[in-house]
Amino acid sequence: MMPIPGSGLAKGLAVTLRTMTKRSHTAQYPEVQPELPPRSRGVIGLFEENCTVCMLCARECPDWCIYIDSHKETVPASTPGGRERSRNVLDRFAIDFSLCMYCGICIEVCPFDALFWSPEFEYAETDIHDLTHERDKLREWMWTVPAPPALDPAAEEPKEVAAARKAVEKAEAAAAAAAAAAAETTATPEADA
Ligand code: SF4
Ligand code: SF4
Repeated sequence: MMPIPGSGLAKGLAVTLRTMTKRSHTAQYPEVQPELPPRSRGVIGLFEENCTVCMLCARECPDWCIYIDSHKETVPASTPGGRERSRNVLDRFAIDFSLCMYCGICIEVCPFDALFWSPEFEYAETDIHDLTHERDKLREWMWTVPAPPALDPAAEEPKEVAAARKAVEKAEAAAAAAAAAAAETTATPEADA
């Protein structure tokens, strides 16, 4: 069937009229901050204490935009006759956000939970070199990483938490036993007298 001449124009005008009567959803950024989901991919934070300099993140990054430098240090034996150990010490950890494509692979592959997403996105720069964030800046982003969602109440207690709880309970029991023994020792001479 042949289209009626001008029907396309009429449809277009109808859409325009319908849209004109609706409220606008324009966000007044930056006066009004957007409400982003907590797990938004804004910037990457580095929790340096967890990083063992295994280099997995740098190797898996498809853009090669993670720069890591390190050196080895010898740790003396902790017990007499024990062996010295060597450990990696981080010298530089940087991410170039002008190359990063926010794929999240580095965060996924990190075996030691040293990298996290933060929803912060306001770090535009006028100089592209400033988009390379060094370790201090990456650490600062950690303050903006949201807390993980609470565990399901029926979930099994994480192994680390269970081990820490047992250690605390053991230390408390030992302290209570020592206090009881001390009280008994001080009470005995009075009873004898
Ligand atoms: S998010 Fe992807 S591109 Fe960006 S640093 Fe991590 S692995 Fe590389
Ligand atoms: S994968 Fe994790 S632990 Fe390994 S170098 Fe990267 S941030 Fe550090």
